Amino acid sequence: MGDMDLMLKPHAICIPFPAQGHINPMLKLAKILHSKGFYITFINTEFNHRRLCKVLGTDTLNRHPSFKFETIPDGLPPTENFDVTQDIPSLCKSTSETCLEPFKKLISRLNDTTTIPPVSCIVSDGVMSFTLDVADELGIPEVLFWTTSACGFLAYAHYNTLMEKGLFPLKDYADLTNGYLDTTLDFIPSMKGIRLKDMPSFVRSTDPDEFMVKFPIRETRRAKKASAIILNTFEELEHDVLNELSSIYSKVYSIGPLHTLENNMKNDDLQFLSSSLWKEETECLKWLDSKESNSVVYVNFGSIAVMTPEQLVEFSWGLANSNQTFLWIIRPDLVSRDSPMLPPEFLEATKDRGLLASWCPQEKVLNHPSVGGFLTHSGWNSTLESISSGVPMICWPFFADQQTNCWFSCNEWGIAMEIDSDVDRKQVQKLVTMLMVEEKGEEMRQMAMVWKRKAESMSSSMNIESLIKHVLLRS
Ligand code: UDP
Repeated sequence: MGDMDLMLKPHAICIPFPAQGHINPMLKLAKILHSKGFYITFINTEFNHRRLCKVLGTDTLNRHPSFKFETIPDGLPPTENFDVTQDIPSLCKSTSETCLEPFKKLISRLNDTTTIPPVSCIVSDGVMSFTLDVADELGIPEVLFWTTSACGFLAYAHYNTLMEKGLFPLKDYADLTNGYLDTTLDFIPSMKGIRLKDMPSFVRSTDPDEFMVKFPIRETRRAKKASAIILNTFEELEHDVLNELSSIYSKVYSIGPLHTLENNMKNDDLQFLSSSLWKEETECLKWLDSKESNSVVYVNFGSIAVMTPEQLVEFSWGLANSNQTFLWIIRPDLVSRDSPMLPPEFLEATKDRGLLASWCPQEKVLNHPSVGGFLTHSGWNSTLESISSGVPMICWPFFADQQTNCWFSCNEWGIAMEIDSDVDRKQVQKLVTMLMVEEKGEEMRQMAMVWKRKAESMSSSMNIESLIKHVLLRS
């Protein structure tokens, strides 16, 4: 490509919130925009940039002439430990309080560079709404990408209503255990029957001034200033919720599953780019090749969830006693304040039918024909990846919108069963057996296949075209 062509490209800034479940979908979207002719600047935090360089190799990231990476600091104290998940509430606070200035400086430096096209639009994570100030100043469109489910986003948007109705914050810590959280909410039409405990987890607070109580309220309110809101979901899956969101926000586009759209992309000349913050252990794919179709339970709690040593032991004995074959991914920092210790008797009992690893290429694993069920923490990316692979789930939601995703997976989409947060081995054994060998599991598997086919519909790719034409290219 000649320099002239490059200079004529629209230039999109893509800035994700600095956590794995946000960087993954943002990179996919950035690749799709790039394939449609955009010049891309992808902004990571310095911390995550170092992690990516460690995984991919330093010279890999900036290899493409029209897809570049830049960094800003995350505002947290420096650390030398690059293999651990950063604390999410601290990151929300520090990015919202400190990132605007470095972001502004970076954009003006890019605009002063004569060898790249001027910045023409911003695609920012929904919880990084400070970026709106820059778009406003430059008079360019900004799209906010909420990487939650649409139901999770709608639930956050109703935190205010919960407060007005006096349902939250909780009056007393006792409300966490006395059944109060079972209160059914009837004022959100697309979520009939949902309980307070199924709302994003930050409602479990007694303090109206707590940062994670005020933050979603502020961010969902500021979202109204964006040129559009985009969500990694598809119309068929969250139709009613999306409709309701459209009555609150003027432009809402569903553009997912992004991994399906990315896989359908012709000429992907950016395949060398990945956003995985841990090195993927690919041996498990070979191991899966040797297993029968739908015979393996895949267990993975994502990049943030942590559990106690006791919970780890309950999960392990539940899996062992189910007699099912399993692939269990245990992040080095999965157990709070400790390195994960599995009972030696468990390792001995399952050595012929269990494989353990610390991080894997999850989309490939879920798409593998041997995987028949997924024990998950209900992170939105994991849920959507499971849905588009036709894999039913057992949900052990940890925090944020995971509670809401779990409720929808179980009650609206018919593809999951929930496990008590107070996990015990008997329940794990029972649900894993149901999922893998009983009628109920088979019904959910068939339902998941129905959603998988719907996920392949064209609605989201048409929405992306329309987003580009009507929002991102609007001058
Ligand atoms: N993931 C992965 N390998 C793993 C575990 C997770 O590639 O071993 C990816 C997974 O495919 C998903 C993301 O990490 O895209 C996790 O996002 P999610 O929203 O499910 O959960 P979070 O990590 O944000 O809690």
